[in-house]
Amino acid sequence: PSAADLARAESLIATIPDFPEPGILFRDISPLLADAAGLRTVAEAMVAPFAGTFDVVAGVEARGFLLAGALAVASGTGLAPIRKAGKLPRPAGSVDYALEYGTATIEMSDDLAPGTRVLLVDDVLATGGTLRAGQQLLEQLGYALAGTAVLMELAELGGRDVCGPVHSVFTV
Ligand code: AMP
Repeated sequence: PSAADLARAESLIATIPDFPEPGILFRDISPLLADAAGLRTVAEAMVAPFAGTFDVVAGVEARGFLLAGALAVASGTGLAPIRKAGKLPRPAGSVDYALEYGTATIEMSDDLAPGTRVLLVDDVLATGGTLRAGQQLLEQLGYALAGTAVLMELAELGGRDVCGPVHSVFTV
């Protein structure tokens, strides 16, 4: 995508102060998802560095799902959901991780063949805990991590130090 297309797409991400709690600047990608050109631009930009290196896009519930579908179609690959605990009928792997308050668990099925090359995606990289857990889950199930990509990286939170190399389309 061109720099102009990317700048336009970034301008469609809304920044909402004090959601879901005071002090959090929430990055709302809904207006971007609703824009046909913007959605195509970011789908192409998220997969561009990984062209030909992955078989499946795995999105982390819930906003990662929204991007994963678009990325899979844009790249001619399949999609696999990484879900919050208790949602999958046949969970085969599970990883617990720390949140700011408490813990969370993500799960995945083993529908993919061992060694399937997976591009792991989410909307926002904050502390990195979610994507690190996703990487561990893929490893637990014997899949190959082809790369990790996010739409927006919140650089000051240092998530990159937690989850390693990440391709971020926008960095703030
Ligand atoms: P973390 O595990 O801290 O990297 O948090 C990443 C997850 O929380 C992602 O799934 C994001 O959707 C969500 N998230 C964290 N911070 C924000 C934010 N400021 N705006 C939107 N989503 C966020």
